[in-house]
Amino acid sequence: METTTLLGVEVDCVTMAQAVDRLWDVLRAPDYGCAYVVTPNLDHARLLEERTDLRAAYADAALRVVDGMPLVWASWLFRKPVRERVAGSDLVPELLASASPARRDRPLSFYLLGAAPGVAERAAEPLLALSPHLAFAGCYSPPFGFEHDDGENERIATRIAEAAPDVLVLGLGAPKQELWVHRHRHQLHTKLALCVGATIDFFAGEVRRAPPLVRAVGLEWAHRMVADPKRLIPRYGRDALALPRLLYADLRARR
Ligand code: UDP
Repeated sequence: METTTLLGVEVDCVTMAQAVDRLWDVLRAPDYGCAYVVTPNLDHARLLEERTDLRAAYADAALRVVDGMPLVWASWLFRKPVRERVAGSDLVPELLASASPARRDRPLSFYLLGAAPGVAERAAEPLLALSPHLAFAGCYSPPFGFEHDDGENERIATRIAEAAPDVLVLGLGAPKQELWVHRHRHQLHTKLALCVGATIDFFAGEVRRAPPLVRAVGLEWAHRMVADPKRLIPRYGRDALALPRLLYADLRARR
């Protein structure tokens, strides 16, 4: 698989179709090692500069798909174009919709971890409707601050291991979801985990996703910022400030 480095982040140059095929290779293998997918964007690039724990989680990821438009733009600028953005929130439905007996005899089971109480239950129905060859393995909304409570972390890992899903959808936001799956991956008895931020919220209808046209022109981030300014303006502000530095470092590394 071809890789490139964009804004300091090593990414896999895959289209959506190639990513889905790659994930089916993981799902068909007998291994329950919890291969996991990360979805790099500008915010992750900034966090990766300063956090060694996130760098370790990224280093062990099975697939790093280019989710953020600034990374796609950087790839154009440096003439190393990635063919398309592969957003985590698109990868989840694409993968689930591709479940069929031709891919694998048994239905594909999925578990939803994250979002506010009651939200994941609501997301399950539209996700299940994507293919008749799916099974819902369960869901859990961890309480606020759970990541600092070792007992709670162990209980969550045990719940997931007992449900033994093929696919674990982690919607805890970055870097929490990446750090959590990295730390607990050997306990989870799942084949594949997808670190996909607000995806559970989108499918529950809790948060409205940008219309397809807005996404197609690369402005999903602007739509999200307008919808949730208090939380996202500071985040995107920090990211925008980091962008020139990351671009410069990237340029120097290419010399
Ligand atoms: N979230 C959660 N537990 C936490 C923190 C966040 O379940 O301790 C959920 C939150 O409810 C939301 C998602 O994580 O559903 C955060 O999504 P965000 O928009 O931050 O994702 P990103 O922008 O990183 O894709």
